[in-house]
Amino acid sequence: MSRRPLLAVALAVLLGAAQQAAASVAPSVLVVSVDTLRADRLGSYGYRRDTSPRVDALLAAGVRFSRARTPEPLTAPALATMLTSLDPHEHAATRNGLRMRPDLLSFPKIFKRRGYDTAAFVGNWTLRDKVSGLGEHFETYSEVLDKARWFGLFKSEATAEDLTRRALEWLQQRRDDDRRSPFVLWVHYVEPHAPYVLQRGFVDQVGAGASSDRSYRYDTEIAFVDHHIGRLLDGVAEWVPAPDLIIAFLADHGESLGEHDYWGHGRHLYDATLQVPMGLVWPGQIEPAVIDAPALITDIGPTLLTLAGLPVPDFYAGYDWAPVVRGERVLPFGRVTYYQAHKGAVQRRDAPQRVRQQGLLEVARIENEAKEILRVTNDRRWVFDLTADPAERRSVVALATEPSGDLEAWRRKVRAGLIRSDELPPPALDDADLEALRALGYID
Ligand SMILES: [Zn+2]
Repeated sequence: MSRRPLLAVALAVLLGAAQQAAASVAPSVLVVSVDTLRADRLGSYGYRRDTSPRVDALLAAGVRFSRARTPEPLTAPALATMLTSLDPHEHAATRNGLRMRPDLLSFPKIFKRRGYDTAAFVGNWTLRDKVSGLGEHFETYSEVLDKARWFGLFKSEATAEDLTRRALEWLQQRRDDDRRSPFVLWVHYVEPHAPYVLQRGFVDQVGAGASSDRSYRYDTEIAFVDHHIGRLLDGVAEWVPAPDLIIAFLADHGESLGEHDYWGHGRHLYDATLQVPMGLVWPGQIEPAVIDAPALITDIGPTLLTLAGLPVPDFYAGYDWAPVVRGERVLPFGRVTYYQAHKGAVQRRDAPQRVRQQGLLEVARIENEAKEILRVTNDRRWVFDLTADPAERRSVVALATEPSGDLEAWRRKVRAGLIRSDELPPPALDDADLEALRALGYID
């Protein structure tokens, strides 16, 4: 969103505010997150293949963040951050298999205190309550793990079709029970996470490609999840009028598809895994716009709370975009954002506490499209000019130079948080959990 359309947004928002004043019901909230989804593989972000017609239409109806990132490119750490608006070293689930701190004040809990029904439907093993600690943040926390998707080894995941069906059944049950209270509903889809299954039913839509091409199969997975997100949106629209529903859309992280000789996510802080699609939709209240200023998935909680008229805890780390989308505040182009990468998963059932303090791999900082990465395992440092070099191929400093004072301070802060987490209980994983985490690729 440039400064010129901001005026138009302001005018539109004034009209929206008038409508809001007339609204008699608190808005419900639908949060749709997609695992491992790169922003640049969506049509709305400029992709050439037709992977995402439903998500594109959704994002066109609201604000789309063109420079959104995740603070850690790993599933459980990122989604715990999305829900609590705390950086991973603060909520303490820095690796898959490490539970977050108990009793944190997530945004679903705040909605619950105001009379909302809250429910989550997740389809990734790393989000199981016993592995992540996420369950306490919802009245209904549904782990949909009835498919053996990963090489068919064990039932660790759900397909998008299953998740959509279960979420719509929950809405149907509310209707059968004649529940009138507003709700917070979070659905987390697993596709297009590896192993990049070829979704044959979507080949015609995506276009021709070789089934041996992992990147092509990844695209068909996006089309598959897009279709079932569309079914979810259609189903929700049957129960909730559009003006009564705020929709947040995001990915937990991206995916490195061979960039820097790496396939996957979690170990590095290059933009292939940091950049995510993100958007907010509320017809009549949020005017369609593209926001080019830096955003994080950490911002979802405070923004949703303010949009719904609820208070935001002052310790939330995220930025509150509500005044911006209402035209009351200028875009925060000077915002500085920070990142961290840790080893993928704990590997022992009786993992000692020091596991929490080990495994920090990289930290990074972005200011004005200058991105500094420090690999803490060998003190190598890169600085990229993201405007001239978005693929992060040429560092403008030598590898062995000292990190900036700001990034060094961030490293100390992350480390201090990991040491404080020493007071937390050790992970409670059984052999099946460990096997699952290993098989999902979250290995040290
Ligand atoms: Zn993930």
